[in-house]
Amino acid sequence: MKNILKKYFGYEEFRPLQQEIIERVLAGKDCLVLMPTGGGKSLCFQLPALMLEGIVIVISPLISLMKDQVDALNKKGISAELINSTLSQVEIINVMKKVQLGEVKILYIAPERLPVPNFENFLRTLKISLIAIDEAHCISEWGHDFRPDYRNLKFLRNKFPGVPIIALTATATSKVSEDIVKQLNLTEPQIFISSFNRPNLSYEILPKKDSLGLILALLKNYKDKSVIIYCFSRNDTEDLVRQLNYHGYKSAPYHAGLNNETRKDNQDKFIKNEIQIIVATIAFGMGIDKPDVRLVIHHSLPKSIEGYYQETGRAGRDGLPSRCILFFSYADKFKQDYFIKGIQNEAEQENAQENLNQVIKYGNLYTCRRKFLLRYFNEDYTKFNCGNCDKCVKQAPIEIPTMSAISKISALKKTKSPNPYKANVIEKIFSGSTYDETAKLLQQKLSVNEIAKMRKFSPKTIVDHIEKIAEINKAIDLTYLKPTSERFEKIIEAFKKSGGLLLAPVRTILGEEYSYDEIRFARIFLNH
Ligand code: ADP
Ligand code: ZN
Repeated sequence: MKNILKKYFGYEEFRPLQQEIIERVLAGKDCLVLMPTGGGKSLCFQLPALMLEGIVIVISPLISLMKDQVDALNKKGISAELINSTLSQVEIINVMKKVQLGEVKILYIAPERLPVPNFENFLRTLKISLIAIDEAHCISEWGHDFRPDYRNLKFLRNKFPGVPIIALTATATSKVSEDIVKQLNLTEPQIFISSFNRPNLSYEILPKKDSLGLILALLKNYKDKSVIIYCFSRNDTEDLVRQLNYHGYKSAPYHAGLNNETRKDNQDKFIKNEIQIIVATIAFGMGIDKPDVRLVIHHSLPKSIEGYYQETGRAGRDGLPSRCILFFSYADKFKQDYFIKGIQNEAEQENAQENLNQVIKYGNLYTCRRKFLLRYFNEDYTKFNCGNCDKCVKQAPIEIPTMSAISKISALKKTKSPNPYKANVIEKIFSGSTYDETAKLLQQKLSVNEIAKMRKFSPKTIVDHIEKIAEINKAIDLTYLKPTSERFEKIIEAFKKSGGLLLAPVRTILGEEYSYDEIRFARIFLNH
């Protein structure tokens, strides 16, 4: 086995679990492989293809990547072909002939091919050594990327008895992996789970304020480095691309609204480093194999932790340090709540809400973000400090470029908004030393009353300070001041109902039981 690994793939050693998985496959048994992106899943079916008699059928939803994979295999001297909608009828027939002559070791097909009349009959004429189902989470409606075409795979187990099935995915919670096993009807499957920890990725959250300014500030440190920015909507991606290009960056959008050609062109240019930044909706990145993405920014909240993990997983596949930054805002949560309310199916709606709740929880953590992510995938991370997230290591504050700050000020002056929250943005730029003094005491984790006493101000003034400090210094840790979660949730609920960030309407909703100071405090944490 090692000889083949070396001869065809050029590797000296197996990565964790690869050998065990391959042995299971060679024994003709079913298995489910949960391995993070870049973990080396493909080898688990590609290597057995060379050892087993017959052909391996690989089912993958990633039509755009199939060709690359097939080309890469052929280059290694492994005979591989693909059948999907990008091929003409004549080309498909030619591939089928070649397959029937036994000249092909690995055949990639798209899931929608299975119900095509006669295709199943064609498959039955072959000696299939293994069926590999890539991105297997797509079969589960509980996952973040359900694909109706994957329903076609439910019958494989019965239609091809005796052919082992290997299902592979980079993201599956225990609920989803149980569902995969059930839907695929796997026989006594062994489930292989390799660690989902990506030690070279740092996980950070920044409050979403002046997001363009923040992005420009971050990009300063990523000259000529590849960056992916995920946005909520197609419009958001287009807007951001315009802004970035205006500021001299080479960026391009990637979303389902673009025609295939443009999308592929943008993706290719990104892979070839002709474009530095891809601004995408979640459609981007499934399976994209660019090793040197150094920064992944989530411009708005992801819909689920699974999605977030997979999207951030595009960073640093070469193992070098890379950053994953999420811009957090409750406004984005409310936006998503609104969409979730529109989901007709009750179970689906509940699932979407729970997924979002987990994302909010991630954003509000007091403790290590990595630990939370790994826990989400049922992995225990036992280290006390991961040394590579914003909860374990203090991050250097980000200086927003003055150009953006200046344009922000003039924009605000023009609007003459009475909203005190907007006024704070101006304060932030002209911060005075009186705040610094309070900030020092906050760093010592003193209570509002203690600080008020020491500084000889009223507690109300100190709350004023805190509100401004939170604006100025995003890195300061104020979590110890946070209201208890039950009351906090109530206040958030009220902000949501009020449709804005003003205190008075929220107080009216909540009643006497909540003080203005408490509501103001909660408002700080909406964005901090
Ligand atoms: P996944 O499908 O799990 O995201 P891939 O199968 O694409 O990951 O593999 C990720 C990278 O790791 C590829 O560049 C692959 O060539 C490499 N790789 C896989 N197995 C090994 C190994 N045993 N030793 C070294 N590199 C490997
Ligand atoms: Zn950590």
